[in-house]
Amino acid sequence: MAQILDGKVHADRILEQVAIAVQARVSKGVRPPCLAVVLVGEDPASQVYVRGKVADCARTGIRSIERRPTADLSQSELNAIIDELNADPEVDGILVQLPLPKGLNSKEALHRIDPAKDVDGFHPMNQGLLLEGLPALRPCTPTACMNMLEAHGVDLKGKRAVVLGRSEIVGKPMALMLLEKHATVTIAHSRTVDLPGVCREADILVAAVGQPGLVEGSWIKPGAIVIDVGINRVEDPALAQRIFAKDPKKQATFAAKGAATCGDVRTAEAMEVASAVTPVPGGVGLLTRAGLMLNTVQAWESRTSV
Ligand code: NDP
Repeated sequence: MAQILDGKVHADRILEQVAIAVQARVSKGVRPPCLAVVLVGEDPASQVYVRGKVADCARTGIRSIERRPTADLSQSELNAIIDELNADPEVDGILVQLPLPKGLNSKEALHRIDPAKDVDGFHPMNQGLLLEGLPALRPCTPTACMNMLEAHGVDLKGKRAVVLGRSEIVGKPMALMLLEKHATVTIAHSRTVDLPGVCREADILVAAVGQPGLVEGSWIKPGAIVIDVGINRVEDPALAQRIFAKDPKKQATFAAKGAATCGDVRTAEAMEVASAVTPVPGGVGLLTRAGLMLNTVQAWESRTSV
């Protein structure tokens, strides 16, 4: 039976380190770091994510401010909010919560953020620095996956890594980070031929596709390490029956609530084959949030002096 890679333990450790780092500089007279969160509209999942991020700020001594315009905001109004936060010397990090409501262009918004305040690491300047292996504000989710692997002493040198998904915010930067640590990396996506066969080559399998339970136990190489990035809400009983067939806990949750959260991997099936698996929830997501705090402190440190 595989080991469960618990994200909470590592996230708690990182948040404690962040709190200590913040306190150390604040006690020398530096103003506290400040994260500005822009949440457009009322998307319930986004509201939950933002609440979590604001709570992490409170826990670590980071000041948070929120801008919560309604969903009928125009692109130029959104741009004006970003411009104002860019110009505010007290703001160290700016996060525009995705997805944005229909009609708003998320790329335009993300590209407008000052790269020095781009704590999500999505600005092309920071993505380019990552490509070159130079210091930058790096995307939090792939960094979280790397932290998870490092915390468990995984040596990536020469290992076969397969990344499922090629988004700018997870898949592509994930592949670059694995490559930086000398893994041999394959990126798979919706047009990949023989996805199960490609996955079976992986010593390290990172799933970031947003397809509930796509990765079956039979797709996993015995002994592989499986990092499940996906966060999906399942409400369809037929799908739940199929993907939770070997997962009595998820079945019980689904029966009680009529819905369940799961990753892109069938965790219970993966547990029978892999050597280690991240759970959903409780895996990469918590470490991603902790990574946002680390990036905010990194931005703050480079923008303030003791
Ligand atoms: P995107 O929708 O931007 O990208 C999904 C990628 O998966 C695309 O490259 C797509 O391929 C590929 N894909 C989709 N369906 C299939 C399929 N059936 N077979 C193979 N490849 C497929 O998603 P994100 O990268 O933003 O997010 C991925 C998942 O990670 C989501 O569940 C999201 O909620 C979660 N997430 C979790 C975070 C965390 O903190 N844990 C943070 C961010 C995201 P193609 O390019 O060909 O269309």
